[in-house]
Amino acid sequence: MKFVSTRGEAKKVAASEAILQGLAPDGGLYVPEVLPDLDERALDPSLSYPEVAELLLRPFFNGDRLEAKLPELCRSAFSFPVDLHYQTETQATLELFHGPTAAFKDFGARFLAFSMEELQKDSSEDLTILVATSGDTGGAVAAAFYDRKGIEVRVLYPKGRVSARQEKQLTCWGGNVSTYSVEGNFDDCQRVVKEAFVSERVKADFKLSSANSINLGRLLPQAVYYVYASVRYQEKTGRKPVIIVPSGNVGNSIGAYYAAAMGAPIERIVLAVNSNRVIPDYLDSGDYTPRASVQTLANAMDVGDPSNMERLRHLFPNFSQFKSQVSAFSVSDEEIKSSIKATDQQYAYLICPHTAAGEFVRQNYVDEEATVVVATAHPAKFETIVEPLIGRTVPVPENLASLLNSESRYTSIAPELDQLFPR
Ligand SMILES: *Cc1c(COP(=O)(O)O)cnc(C)c1O
Repeated sequence: MKFVSTRGEAKKVAASEAILQGLAPDGGLYVPEVLPDLDERALDPSLSYPEVAELLLRPFFNGDRLEAKLPELCRSAFSFPVDLHYQTETQATLELFHGPTAAFKDFGARFLAFSMEELQKDSSEDLTILVATSGDTGGAVAAAFYDRKGIEVRVLYPKGRVSARQEKQLTCWGGNVSTYSVEGNFDDCQRVVKEAFVSERVKADFKLSSANSINLGRLLPQAVYYVYASVRYQEKTGRKPVIIVPSGNVGNSIGAYYAAAMGAPIERIVLAVNSNRVIPDYLDSGDYTPRASVQTLANAMDVGDPSNMERLRHLFPNFSQFKSQVSAFSVSDEEIKSSIKATDQQYAYLICPHTAAGEFVRQNYVDEEATVVVATAHPAKFETIVEPLIGRTVPVPENLASLLNSESRYTSIAPELDQLFPR
């Protein structure tokens, strides 16, 4: 299997190369040349999660350097539970928050980290991963790459602009993970990282790479849980679910579209976005107009120009196709709040603000009864929003608690390349 660029100007590469490169040389994103049919054995509900992952991912790694290691990579990366919570007979929530940092990004980040560690075994030079984060991604990447051999990680976050719990998840590592608290905003962090990637001085001494969400190694694993969950849902209810995905950069949703195209029992896919309405507006008007993002309570979805839109449009190249396959609804902050409250009151179930956008779409915009909302993060990560609404504290799950109880280590720096890579 080879991967092509969405812009069609780069040469085809194998999975490992796409993973190491991140962005294709023509500025596009790597996508599979074809979407293979799912191995029928993956539709067996008695399989473990790593077994499903291996069956789904195998064709993508056919002929690749990582092919023989795939079973081991899947066992290492996907070593935590994936649960379907039923709030009624047919309304389920797919809990993707049982990993180390209690959000779905753990799936992609861990698969990428173990893959890169494996690829580094042939190399004498350490890899340096640079990440600028506005909050959540940095924590998932740091957790995933912590202790991976032959890889060093530098995480930059804007001082005073992440939540207390997010900061803990960024600074509790040490070892091969260095965290920098930058005197500036997220754009300053991103600028320093970009400067490093073009600095001849830095590149002479360091082999740099990134771990951002457009990396193929993060994308492909995000198809696996849709197969795993829809198979189990169908076994229990006898129906195919509508899957509702809280979306920002739409990487998670691409995973759902890939799973459905490969043959997972999925009725259709619906995107829930916050007040950043670029996709619903595109569906209404046919004009795709990226814009600046606006801040919302579901901040991991505050995206005005979704980076994976290029992959979605590559999948459905003309507008009528796109419109027939993609539906998306925008949910306001007030609706997010009312959804958190109502779900607690009616179903005694706590959800995070991102999941709440999905829940609101289920209750208001989806006619079918058979539905699965994707829970992208644990509500305890957003306790400052959830607790005032429900009037009590959100219990912190064990995975998160152990991170929050560790010691913080970080270096304070000015937003300058020389501070991240001293001369
Ligand atoms: C990243 C993130 C999202 C958005 O996922 P995309 O793949 O960018 O669409 C939603 N919820 C949470 C909690 C996230 O961390």
